[in-house]
Amino acid sequence: MNQDQINTLRVQPVSPQHHLIEGKAVPASDGQTMAVISPIDGSVLTTIARGTAADMDDAIRSARAAFEDGRWASQPPAARKKVLQKWADLIEAHAMELAVLGVRDNGTEIGMAFKAEPGSAAGTIRYYAEALDKLYGEIAPTPNDTLGLIHREPVGVVGAIIPWNFPMMIGAWKLGPALATGNSVVLNPPESASLTLLRMAELALEAGLPPGVLNVVTGEGAVVGQAMGLSMDVDVLVFTGSGTTGRRLLEYAARSNLKRVYLELGGKSPNIVFEDAPDLKEAAKVAAMGIFRNAGQVCVAGSRLLVEASIQDDFVAEVSKVAAGMHVGDPLDITSQIGAVHSDQQLQENLGFVQTALDEGGQLTTGGDQLLKDTGGYYMAPTVVTGVTPHASLAQKEVFGPILAVTPFETDADAIRIANATPYGLAGGVWTANLSRAHHMVRAVRTGVMHVNTYGGADGTVPLGGVGQSGNGHDKSLHAIDKYINLKTAWIKL
Ligand code: NAD
Repeated sequence: MNQDQINTLRVQPVSPQHHLIEGKAVPASDGQTMAVISPIDGSVLTTIARGTAADMDDAIRSARAAFEDGRWASQPPAARKKVLQKWADLIEAHAMELAVLGVRDNGTEIGMAFKAEPGSAAGTIRYYAEALDKLYGEIAPTPNDTLGLIHREPVGVVGAIIPWNFPMMIGAWKLGPALATGNSVVLNPPESASLTLLRMAELALEAGLPPGVLNVVTGEGAVVGQAMGLSMDVDVLVFTGSGTTGRRLLEYAARSNLKRVYLELGGKSPNIVFEDAPDLKEAAKVAAMGIFRNAGQVCVAGSRLLVEASIQDDFVAEVSKVAAGMHVGDPLDITSQIGAVHSDQQLQENLGFVQTALDEGGQLTTGGDQLLKDTGGYYMAPTVVTGVTPHASLAQKEVFGPILAVTPFETDADAIRIANATPYGLAGGVWTANLSRAHHMVRAVRTGVMHVNTYGGADGTVPLGGVGQSGNGHDKSLHAIDKYINLKTAWIKL
């Protein structure tokens, strides 16, 4: 990464943005727009279309027509593969431009954004491009006088709703398998971070994706996302975001066409550190990164530190030292380790959580306050709170900010009980040199992913999904493909 290049890109004007429907830039039907605020300094970057329900209906109609006439679904797999590969190449070729645009929009530190956004999105699109001509149907083990064939068919029109924390990465997790399997997609990017997904969709057209196969409608989720959820013509809805919105989407499906709904929701993930961890200094460093990167706005963030009571004082002191030493600042400065909180509202919520934690008996070992107020942006110090009981608000509620809740435990059983004492089940970690203990904890802690002697970070070959109120279904890996296909049986009398 080159600071001069970033400095040049960060001052580029961003023109007002429109929806992308049937391959064309289209303003909102009533002409309304929304300001895009940069969390770096609170300035207005540009505007996006404030979509209406009618805009969403237009986009769905276009996607349906594209699916029915087979302009994408009926192309030979090799042809679809070529387009998706070219798309991945274009994303890579524009990686720095996309990364800087995204950081101006959502505030993630550039070092992380560069890898996690264009880098990961290109990798994901390429992964599914390469997979799509290796997906075979099946022949069932029927009696000799019949032939049972199992076909995999695209579902039709997929609606995708994406959050603001990693829009390109999470967008690609949906778009890759949905498009690879021949579906058309209508995308509702996050209302407060739409710019990179709009640009990514333009690059898809440039790569040869036929118009109408991927339409993008911006605006408030409560308007356009709701219209998507209530549509009678969306077959599958894939969502990443909060449980509150997830619940609404299930209701919309029930009130409309019973579309399948897949939810990737939040977490309150336990990072469990035993006294026998192989390297406690390393564990402290990784535990800090596991909660504080992207200012804690990571769905799998290790937001609860469960630490064996015998090492609590030393370990917490080490984590707090790492936290206090982190450079929080301008996310487009390559030396910043932590960028901006996404919005003023999110920042105020974070500060409110700190106050509640203190009111409930917690103690601050570092952080707790807003930083860099004079920039006009939204920055917060990495924060560690000890003395958090398993049922305290900070142990139960997803904060989505740079706040670590520390709870001690005495025994393995104690650790498991505390780890499982939330409604969530997205991710977790365990630090121990004892192999049996590690495997036991992997089985006993109810999550979609457990990290052992590390925290966070996994590539596209493994699934990501939650249990409990962290959601259903999986992104990433070949398993994600199941969401975007229907199985169809042909039962043939011979
Ligand atoms: P959110 O639920 O507020 O918004 C997500 C999306 O839903 C946005 O695009 C928004 O426009 C749309 N939306 C809002 N109201 C809607 C409605 N009534 N109908 C339809 N759509 C609507 O979540 P957020 O604040 O953008 O994202 C943060 C949340 O996402 C956190 O809870 C985080 O844990 C979760 N998340 C989960 C994963 C995962 O893989 N499990 C990954 C990243 C983020």
